[in-house]
Amino acid sequence: MPLSPFACTNCGHWQRYFAVPPNCPICSDVRNDLPPSGWKFVTPELLAPQLQYHWRETIPGIWEFWSTPRFGLDSHGWLLIYPEGNVAFEAAPYYNDAQLQKIEELGGINILASSHPHGYGALYQLQDHFRPELLIQKDDLEWTKAFRVTIPYDETLEIRPGLTLHHTGGHYAGHSVLHDAARRAVFAGDALKIEFDPDGTAARISCHKAYHKQIPLSRDEARRYRAVFETLDFTSVFTPFEYATETSTKAALALLDEVIAGPPFTRSIPIQR
Ligand SMILES: [Zn+2]
Ligand SMILES: [Zn+2]
Repeated sequence: MPLSPFACTNCGHWQRYFAVPPNCPICSDVRNDLPPSGWKFVTPELLAPQLQYHWRETIPGIWEFWSTPRFGLDSHGWLLIYPEGNVAFEAAPYYNDAQLQKIEELGGINILASSHPHGYGALYQLQDHFRPELLIQKDDLEWTKAFRVTIPYDETLEIRPGLTLHHTGGHYAGHSVLHDAARRAVFAGDALKIEFDPDGTAARISCHKAYHKQIPLSRDEARRYRAVFETLDFTSVFTPFEYATETSTKAALALLDEVIAGPPFTRSIPIQR
């Protein structure tokens, strides 16, 4: 019997299964909440017509793909355009034909990667369609059953000069961030959570082991984040859910210094410019 894709409606995680899956590994994990009224899964055929599909060039050379209304954790996929081959980081909940066509027009995908399972979205679809190399830090392999990791990596992996994956651990054991030196941007996964003012200005910043349950990072985990972020020069942050300008290395280090200094916490602090 062939395996079919099913998405958990609580978090959006895709599994390939021979029947409706008995549970969702992401929601069963301590970092997510269980669906209060039981498991519910959708197939691509059921989900596709429920969504509207969007894209935009967020900043020159970086495209954003997402859908509405919110599905699952509501991740956004980022596409970084390079003449020598595009890089996709994180993925939208599901891609329709128009989005896949747009990515094709922009040059397709040579390298596909993600920070951690909450950013995976429909990564499996991008792999099926574009056949890129798929890079995931080796400690997160257990969450990748819907697709095939072709290049597992250890502590850092330079995709090309100035574009490097850095393992942070913490939120997930294999959690990693992507640093784009030329654009002074970090794709921070869920290492950093940004809150915005009503006018869209990035206002506050926080970090968590588990966002839903508000579990803080341990001190050593925060130290590890700090050791990675202090080596990265950035002025903007892309997470699986948002794009924040004027959020710099300084803001991240100020947060982590405060977390390291006292009892662990998950509250947000004002972003230091
Ligand atoms: Zn789930
Ligand atoms: Zn997460």
